[in-house]
Amino acid sequence: MPRIRVLPPDVVGKIRAGEVIDRPAAVAKELIENAIDAGSRLIAVHVGAAPERLIRVQDDGGGMTRDDAVLSIKRHATSKLNEESDLTSIRTLGFRGEALASVAEVSRLTLSTRSAEELTGTQVEVLGGTLIQVSGVGRAVGTTVVVEDLFFNTPARLRFLKSRDAETRALSRVVWSYILTTPGIHWRFHVDGKEDVDLPPAADFLERWSVVYGRGGSPDAGVPFEGELGGLFLRGVLGTPDQARANRDHQFFAVNGRVVSSPTVGAALRQGYGNLIPSDRYPIALLLVELEPSLVDVNVHPTKREVRFRDESRVFQATRAAVEEAMRRYVPAGVGAGIGTGATGRPFAGVDVVANPGEKGIDPNAGRAGGSGGGGDLARPPSEQPLLDGLELARTLYAPPESLGPDVAREGESGDLREGLAEPEIAIWQLHDRYLLAPIRGGLVIIDQHAAHERILYEEARERLFGSGGPSQHLLFPRLIDLTRDELDALLLHEPHLKRLGYEVSLFGERQIAVRGVPASIPEESAIDALKRLLLSAEDADASGDPPEERIAKTFACHAAVRSGQTLKPVERRALVDRLFATGLPHGDPHGRATYVRVSMEELDRRFGRR
Ligand code: ADP
Ligand code: MG
Repeated sequence: MPRIRVLPPDVVGKIRAGEVIDRPAAVAKELIENAIDAGSRLIAVHVGAAPERLIRVQDDGGGMTRDDAVLSIKRHATSKLNEESDLTSIRTLGFRGEALASVAEVSRLTLSTRSAEELTGTQVEVLGGTLIQVSGVGRAVGTTVVVEDLFFNTPARLRFLKSRDAETRALSRVVWSYILTTPGIHWRFHVDGKEDVDLPPAADFLERWSVVYGRGGSPDAGVPFEGELGGLFLRGVLGTPDQARANRDHQFFAVNGRVVSSPTVGAALRQGYGNLIPSDRYPIALLLVELEPSLVDVNVHPTKREVRFRDESRVFQATRAAVEEAMRRYVPAGVGAGIGTGATGRPFAGVDVVANPGEKGIDPNAGRAGGSGGGGDLARPPSEQPLLDGLELARTLYAPPESLGPDVAREGESGDLREGLAEPEIAIWQLHDRYLLAPIRGGLVIIDQHAAHERILYEEARERLFGSGGPSQHLLFPRLIDLTRDELDALLLHEPHLKRLGYEVSLFGERQIAVRGVPASIPEESAIDALKRLLLSAEDADASGDPPEERIAKTFACHAAVRSGQTLKPVERRALVDRLFATGLPHGDPHGRATYVRVSMEELDRRFGRR
């Protein structure tokens, strides 16, 4: 590697200012990028239980001479940039010469290194930006950087850190993104009490990908792809449509080896999947773009987290075409479960209807757990809520008409609406497989079938979760599900909750679980779908601040409920309406959206000019 030198002021002036070290993840990113730039074949990352207390990155790259080691922690000291013109042809991950200096300024940093040119290594210790000591050490060629007590001298920044778990997760994502993009590097990654992996070099991207996203060896492990279009090289691994997620957390992009976020690439990726996945979901993917360095500006963002392409639309077109082409070739190994699209928007938003028949409006906090002693229905302990048990719901919502006794949903009636529906023969229409229309005394009620079922299942789930659990329906054939590491963690954490809901789950091999029972109230397919979503969304758990039971009840209800677009048999419509008005709070779904609107006769009369 060329010698380090301090950049002349005119070059410094061209550089987007400030390497921002805002959290432990940023430290890991810089140290890892340096290790990769140094040509390392092995990189070992060790993180303490509190990541701001200890991060160590060790590599077997080219190392530094004594002189360079001392220079490396100075600002704008770099071996990667010489001339200002180099800024348009950057092939390394670093180039500003600021990272080590910025980290050293806000931590206790110890750098030990040796280059092949020297027989002894050098150890440099810096405390809060002040050089404390330079000494000789015996060591192998390569570099080890230890960062301790990050932000010890900037307490304000320390206070801004998120929870230990959140910081560890962010750091972990950085490390894993580089693990995924560099299959040729041997990685060791250890987080005290959390993570411990040793990954020898992999044959290709797919093999590395499978370490995280499972299904190794199966044709459904992921869709590897590779393509070239007018000087733009694209390759990576695309997740199968059934692996799609509710957020973009599992999309990894790299441009010329640098892990970045790119709205352009993200949008192209999504479009490449077309309607293979529902519109509110995102594919998981590893996507690497390689192009002439002069065609991309890496100097636009202070943390180099984003890049700008000279020709964004070309990158977009090429990426979309490559993804589309790869997904055309993909044939699922098994029979995929159909995923409907969820209901969107408020029903009849533009129509002036009488929305809230009771005195109570739709409580925007309907989803919040009770316990604060407020006056709402949900403040009551769940056991007092007028609910039927799961088996009964199964009978009412999915069973043949005989079992639908007139009394099934009678108890716990709320409001005048049910009364209006008293006649069992009254037809309930289904409009465009989305809304149920039912005549009531004094008008018409229009029910959002998904939102209504969501409310029903939500209350039932809360009852089970806060209570002693509900019945399970044994599956004739256990269902095997592949899980990622995060999902497996979530499963272990929430096992008791899932059990109370009615799931019977056991570990089945390293990354697989066997589902032997599902909550008795819902069809197997919906139950499995809901389980997958529960494990997925567990990652967002601490963001919401809700108790886990509350979050689980909401997620379960949302994904187990009948969907917009699903045709319901007359008996199912009937059961849904009856069950809705037997819930404690029928007006809104758990997110506070309306479950029904009422149109009064007066309203209709007025519109038809009858009064
Ligand atoms: P930059 O990476 O932008 O050049 P840094 O502050 O991250 O700036 O690093 C300064 C210099 O220290 C680098 O240019 C490189 O020469 C040297 N260096 C840093 N880390 C390593 C490492 N792990 N192995 C070898 N050299 C390193
Ligand atoms: Mg660097």
